[in-house]
Amino acid sequence: MSYLERQRQPSCLQFVAHSPYNPEMLKKILLLSIPVAIAATGLYLYYNRRTSDERITKAFEWLDDPSSHPEFTMTAGTKCGDAPFIFPTDGLAGFIWDDSFRPGHRHSGIDIFGGTDVGITPVVAAYPGYLTREADWKSSVIIRVTEDPLRAGRQIWVYYTHMADSQGNSFISPDFPLGTSEVYVEAGTLLGYQGNYSGDPNNPVGVHLHISVVQDDGFGNFTNELEIKNTYDPSPYFGLPLNANTNFDTVPVCQ
Ligand SMILES: [Zn+2]
Repeated sequence: MSYLERQRQPSCLQFVAHSPYNPEMLKKILLLSIPVAIAATGLYLYYNRRTSDERITKAFEWLDDPSSHPEFTMTAGTKCGDAPFIFPTDGLAGFIWDDSFRPGHRHSGIDIFGGTDVGITPVVAAYPGYLTREADWKSSVIIRVTEDPLRAGRQIWVYYTHMADSQGNSFISPDFPLGTSEVYVEAGTLLGYQGNYSGDPNNPVGVHLHISVVQDDGFGNFTNELEIKNTYDPSPYFGLPLNANTNFDTVPVCQ
C-alpha cells in the first residue's frame, strides 16, 4: 500500500543522500544493526499480531459480509459524545492508528471501508478548515485546521486519501480541482468518494478512505504523514478507540 502520492521524499532518504559519513563506515554500521533489527521486528510483530488479532478478525468478518455485523458500521456525520470531529464516511474502521501491515510498518491513520464498489461511498470533511489539493494529487486532499480543537494555539492538518480508482481516475468533488489551495470548507462538506487507488494500477487497495491527523512543521506546512511520528493519535478527535496500542479487541463504534 502506498501513500506516496504526495511525491515527497522521506526525510531519512534525504539524510542518507547528504550524509557526511564515509560510506564504508555507514555500511559497517548498517550490517551490525541488521541482527538487532531482525530481533526487534520479530518481537514487535509477535506482540502486535497477538494483541490485535481479535479486532482484525472481526473486521475481516465484516469485510467478507457487512451484514454479518451491522453493529460495526459507522455513519458519515456521526459525532461520538463531545468529540470535535464527525465521522467522515460510512463504513467500518478496519485498520486503526499504529496497526502494522508488514515488518516495520506503522499505520499513520484510520482506514474506513465502505463495503461498496469504488466511487459510491461519500467522504465528507470531519472538521472545518482550509482545503488544499496539490497539482499531482489524484486521490488526496488535506485540510488545514488553524486551531487544534484539543490544544489551543496549535495548527494541525487532516489528510484524506484513496479517493480515486485503481487507474487514478479521481473521485474528488469537482469543487476541488487539481491545484486547489486554501479553500474554506465546513464540517460535512462533500470531498469525494471512497476508492482503491494505491499508485500501482496492478495492486489496488480495498475500497476505503484513509484519514490521518497530521502535525504541522512549526512553520505552517504539513509534515509527511507516512511517518507515524508526524501524526497524532486520532482517538480523542473522533471519540473512538483508534489506537492499536490500547485497542486489541474492539471494532471502533460510538459507545
Ligand atoms: Zn490507511
